[in-house]
Amino acid sequence: MSGFDHRSYYEMLRDSMSVALVKAVLNKELAESKETRLMASRNGGELNAKQEAEELADFVEFLATDLYEYFPKDLTEVTYEMKLADETGRVGTVEMAEEFLNNLPSTYVDAIVEAKLLADAEDVKRMTTTVMEDYLAAATAAPQNWKDTKPLECELCGREVRLTYHHLIPRSTHARVLKKRIHPEWMLNRVAWLCRLCHSFVHHCEENMELAKNWYTVELLEQREDIQRWIAYISKRPHRAHVK
Ligand SMILES: [Zn+2]
Ligand SMILES: [Zn+2]
Repeated sequence: MSGFDHRSYYEMLRDSMSVALVKAVLNKELAESKETRLMASRNGGELNAKQEAEELADFVEFLATDLYEYFPKDLTEVTYEMKLADETGRVGTVEMAEEFLNNLPSTYVDAIVEAKLLADAEDVKRMTTTVMEDYLAAATAAPQNWKDTKPLECELCGREVRLTYHHLIPRSTHARVLKKRIHPEWMLNRVAWLCRLCHSFVHHCEENMELAKNWYTVELLEQREDIQRWIAYISKRPHRAHVK
């Protein structure tokens, strides 16, 4: 399998940007007073949420386009095969993007700071670093035989896209979970089938131990306000067709 075309690279960047941006918007709202949020929700709740999601999508599109234009060539051509052949351990890691991250286009930085999503250039760099980590992981991921995976729709957003499995009780916590008798052993291997973006978003929301203790079913995850907002956003977004 050869690499993706440019449209796909751009889409991977846009998707990675969505995860970080929606989270930044939710953090900003949390920081604002509760009253303002209450007023906003009384002010025609559902319509507002839909409009917000549209506006956010436009903003993500704008930022991703801006950033992609300045991408160094190797970031738009990197593939799984290159990662395999690489002996430096650099390909597919955020190290590839180091110079780029140190020289982010000012239009991009200013747009995020002016929208009051993040405080300053340092914060923007930090956020963009997670975006690039996510992007490079997607760009250099091993091709998989997706026909073997049963569920068709992401259990959170309902989109029909490639799915990954999320251990509802993350594996890194299993020893502690058993020792502290938080869950019985039979529950440990339960998974949820999530698209890459929802999966990434869930891990942006909480640390693994917190997920294990309090957010160990899809139903529990769905009760969170941040996840509801994320679903409202992502379920409306277009996505690439299945890659065969
Ligand atoms: Zn999803
Ligand atoms: Zn996971």
